[in-house]
Amino acid sequence: MIPSFGDKRYSSPWISWYHNDMSDCIFCKIIKGEIPAKKLYEDDELLAFHDVNPQAPVHFLVIPKKHIPNIMELDASDAALLGRLLFKAQELAATNGCAEKGARFVINCKSDGGQSVDHLHCHILGGRAMAWPPG
Ligand code: 5GP
Ligand code: ZN
Repeated sequence: MIPSFGDKRYSSPWISWYHNDMSDCIFCKIIKGEIPAKKLYEDDELLAFHDVNPQAPVHFLVIPKKHIPNIMELDASDAALLGRLLFKAQELAATNGCAEKGARFVINCKSDGGQSVDHLHCHILGGRAMAWPPG
């Protein structure tokens, strides 16, 4: 089979650059309105929407509109943005029924962290007790 440019199994610096680019990013497409999502909150820097494959009664994602691939690629200049993101995650968890019993706030990173979408996102899972340790 001839490897295609979009095939993540064949890596090169150029293909790696391509996959770190927002042109290939599902969440950037949601931000642009090219893919529909059930939005919970939006402003000029942040977007929150329900996960398409929920793992708990409450399961939504909060993302920065800036395309940051993962938490390892955060820059010091992103500190305020990430602070806002976490504060918004807290606020939305509370308004979605998780104030009393809490929730799980998860940021998966790269392959060992189980990240499947390369645009930084915080999962908020609630409405049931979570197990520990994670798989
Ligand atoms: P990760 O595995 O990267 O931590 O989480 C990515 C999450 O994004 C998964 O829970 C997955 O269900 C969700 N997801 C992937 N594609 C879409 C989509 O097109 N729309 C929505 N709403 N969620 C998505
Ligand atoms: Zn993106």
